[in-house]
Amino acid sequence: MQDRNDGRTGKILRVDLTTGTISKETLPSELMNLYLGGAGIGAYYLQKEVQAGVEWDDPENRIIFSSGPFGGTKIPGAGTFSLSTKGSMVDGAVTTQANGFWGAYLRFAGYDSIIIQGRAPNWVYLKIDKDEVKLVDATSLIGKDTREIETIVREETGEKGISVFGIGPAGENLVRYAVVAGDRGHVASKNGCGCVMGAKRLKAIAISRSRQEIPTVDPESVSAMAKAMNENAKKSPLSKYGTAVSVTPFYRDGILPVRNYTTNIFPEHELINGEYIIDNFETRPKPCWMCAHPHVKIVKITKGPYAGLEGELPEYESLSGWGSNVGNNDASAIIMLSDLTDRLGLDVNEASWTVSWVMDCYEQGIFTSKDLDGLEMNWGNVENIRTLLFKISSREGVGNLLADGVKRAAETVGGEALKMAVYVEKGTTPRGHDHRGRWGELLDTCVSATSTLQSSAFLIPKLDEFGLPPVNKSSPWEVAVSNAKMDGWFVFLDCLGVCRFTACNPKLVLGALKSVTGMDLSLKQAMDIGRRTINVLRVFNHCHGLDPAKEVPSIRYGSTPKNGPAEGKSILPYFEFMKSLYFELNGWDSDTGMPLPHTLESLGLAELVNDLPSKD
Ligand code: SF4
Repeated sequence: MQDRNDGRTGKILRVDLTTGTISKETLPSELMNLYLGGAGIGAYYLQKEVQAGVEWDDPENRIIFSSGPFGGTKIPGAGTFSLSTKGSMVDGAVTTQANGFWGAYLRFAGYDSIIIQGRAPNWVYLKIDKDEVKLVDATSLIGKDTREIETIVREETGEKGISVFGIGPAGENLVRYAVVAGDRGHVASKNGCGCVMGAKRLKAIAISRSRQEIPTVDPESVSAMAKAMNENAKKSPLSKYGTAVSVTPFYRDGILPVRNYTTNIFPEHELINGEYIIDNFETRPKPCWMCAHPHVKIVKITKGPYAGLEGELPEYESLSGWGSNVGNNDASAIIMLSDLTDRLGLDVNEASWTVSWVMDCYEQGIFTSKDLDGLEMNWGNVENIRTLLFKISSREGVGNLLADGVKRAAETVGGEALKMAVYVEKGTTPRGHDHRGRWGELLDTCVSATSTLQSSAFLIPKLDEFGLPPVNKSSPWEVAVSNAKMDGWFVFLDCLGVCRFTACNPKLVLGALKSVTGMDLSLKQAMDIGRRTINVLRVFNHCHGLDPAKEVPSIRYGSTPKNGPAEGKSILPYFEFMKSLYFELNGWDSDTGMPLPHTLESLGLAELVNDLPSKD
């Protein structure tokens, strides 16, 4: 049993893959108060233990898996974990989340976090239960996809309820945008975290289900808060349709990406939205830990060429990535490609932007089928997309070029092809939106310290809960101010070990935190925990050579929409002003975005002041 009652185990598991050493460490209380858990603890250990000059594939790089104080409690969505590492896409930090059950099971096993270091001499997987932690030979898992490894580990261990997260062929073959996937369809996806795991020859981490209570300060209140959070989350249309419900509203707002940003017209959006899929396919709910808001569903294809395939209801980003952005209006094909992307262990954002760039180049005559191993890559050619994904995940033929992501591939090809690629100069692609119609997310994507969206407020229904008026999304000033003011909230959620979709009411979240830990935080104090984490990551990125000149959109990413609701509107004339204002409002140098000493000191990070590289 745990010897604390504040929702913490207070223990870290450290695994050195080079030596095979496994040890248990104490997580100091001061750190838990400063960072809570999840992304915060990950950022702290990343900055502390990964020195400048250590590259993503260096054995000295760390992968930190962390739950948080909510992990394994009755709070809905408290199976989420955060993964932090130095990633292979952007040459800097990532904190990325996956929902499911794994985070809860980690806590039942007696740990808040795992720190992975070193590189195994041969492929292994880590098996954890509350009585024993061991490295297991992974020969039987090599070459298997992310669903297959779950099945094999279940068969080999005889544990039907074991939770497994691992890498597919893409991670084994060091595809730069490989993910870590598990719990049948959940993914930690950003900045090549699966590629880092592949470099360490760690195929998977499996955690037994050893159910025990996580002792909390006020268990009755935790139950009441959990019920209230579930009731609140169930009001969202996501419960019925998943994030797929966003397709049509996003299209109408001009933020559904269509054919690599060549147009914003896609009248077939109603053939790929959540309503269409729920009405035309067999689905059943597949909620995560303690969640009664089952936005995740299993979907079965019952007719057509993919009949019999059962996968996860595609999230919005798969629908945009494998639908409108590649000129495909066949929902069955999207389900097939979405399932394949997860199985191979590829990030759906980077994979679909890479493929849509290939298709755009093919349609413009820049690529011919000869350049593409004989594949005709016309818009909507889903079977050839399928073939290309296999090539990418195995780095075969043209797949080797594309396995490094769209920026690096476009730079290799050069000329007009480079101008057609959608990416941030730092090295990664945006989420599955057309951010030219949503400037807050374009700015956020370029300057984020987490390698994914960290501040833009689209998930929040009421900005007034944060003291913010509604934002005019075409006002450079309002967008930059809103992003700076929201910085901290989402990353605070990522420190708790909870799903962002169930934690959408700030008052309930803070009430739940008090019930679990006894910490009675104001909104500002909570957001300061998120800001502290962001500042640590920003310091880490500057120490590791972040070039602020690369925190800008590529030519196509920053281009002006030719039609649709955002027609003729361009962020580019305002972008540098917005970036500087955002930096300044965060207490960072307005040119470089480097945290200023007084900002670090005010967040209790004075010890990082000496880590800051000189401005020259
Ligand atoms: S809202 Fe969705 S992702 Fe979040 S915990 Fe519930 S089912 Fe899982």
